[in-house]
Amino acid sequence: MTATLLRGRLLSFVRRPEGIDDTGSYRYESDGGLLIEDGRIAAIGDYADVRRNAPADAEEIDHRPHLILPGFIDTHVHFPQMQVIGAYAANLLEWLHTYTFPEECRFVEPAHAARIARHFYDEMIRHGTTTAAAYCSVHKASADAYFAEALRRNMCMIGGKVMMDRNAPQGLLDTPEMGYDETRAVIAEWHGKGRNHVAITPRFAITSTPAQMEATALLAREFPDLHIQTHLSENDEEIRFTAQLYPDAIDYTDVYAHYGLLGPKSLFGHCIHLSEREADAMSEAGAVAVHCPTSNLFLGSGLFPLKSLVRRDKPVRIGVATDVGGGTSYSMLKTLDETYKIQQLLGERLNPFESFYHMTLGNAEAVSLADRIGTLEPGTDADLAVLDAAATPAMALRMEIVRSLADELFLLQTLGDDRAVRETYVAGKPMKTVI
Ligand SMILES: [Zn+2]
Repeated sequence: MTATLLRGRLLSFVRRPEGIDDTGSYRYESDGGLLIEDGRIAAIGDYADVRRNAPADAEEIDHRPHLILPGFIDTHVHFPQMQVIGAYAANLLEWLHTYTFPEECRFVEPAHAARIARHFYDEMIRHGTTTAAAYCSVHKASADAYFAEALRRNMCMIGGKVMMDRNAPQGLLDTPEMGYDETRAVIAEWHGKGRNHVAITPRFAITSTPAQMEATALLAREFPDLHIQTHLSENDEEIRFTAQLYPDAIDYTDVYAHYGLLGPKSLFGHCIHLSEREADAMSEAGAVAVHCPTSNLFLGSGLFPLKSLVRRDKPVRIGVATDVGGGTSYSMLKTLDETYKIQQLLGERLNPFESFYHMTLGNAEAVSLADRIGTLEPGTDADLAVLDAAATPAMALRMEIVRSLADELFLLQTLGDDRAVRETYVAGKPMKTVI
């Protein structure tokens, strides 16, 4: 058995913080010890206590004065869009047709998919992200590359071959049968292998015919434990076009509900413009609205009412995500910085504990994996991010007068990015070169 003992300041959430003074929502150890055995967290507590009970030959790594948190979780990202991040477009549909669809066509080539997958995981690690829910392209080769690289790095990843059979270039279209067969093949080859989770992934209602939606419905019935991921209510033009394509649906959410895709493992990217009826339907199904703030601002899609969706009598479950390449940063710190600013524009406050809850336990709950990731609880997988709030000269200067944990977290969120991530552990193994 291999044992590692980390020393540093430890922060882990136990539930959503209800206010900035809600100290019961998290656990903080100012001189903490975290014992890792065989890739899992074996003990957490005061350093001296954990040291006393640890195996004598445990390797010790001292991360003081840095913060050790659960690794970040990104609940919506497109791995084939790394080379179109920051592309100049007026709105969602123009961005898709001008840049993104042509780029995704290249993933028919296994060698290209494998190369970009390596870059994708390098960026995840660089930014302290240890789990992501990603869209691959329509090509099975892209899903093969994505899951093979996750397996090689022993990372806990969710992903799916995109299903799309209309309103896109020929090189990006499957058929209802092909989408069904290839998704089944990806499930058979990758689901449960290592830490891989395959998701049923119709891109969105605009790019799937009713016949293809029937195929996704069949997959959802055959594999009820799988995640489902798609897009919902991102942009006004998209919403109008969807209503034309599905004239019998009550609204956009009802399109997915009709095909049995609204459930507790369903991740709906964006959900900016939901009606009250749609929010009720999401809440009753336990479905997750995934907020992608940098993407929403970049594409001018709208302001996501996070706080009011949480506050409803029928609250909606929330995930937060980068949505690269519509999103403009791989950093979950930057992402929550933009989440904060959007709430400011809506007259709401998002306190720093809530932000860090969302990056860790909140997103673990959103993907229904909180028993494995997202906390520092003993028995869970040792996926960790080590953060340095004085990582840049500007941050170090600001840190000179920071006195509270809340202020330190807020500084990390506001000025931090990959430079603030000193180390990223995956199943107990340090993955960055800098310690
Ligand atoms: Zn997306």
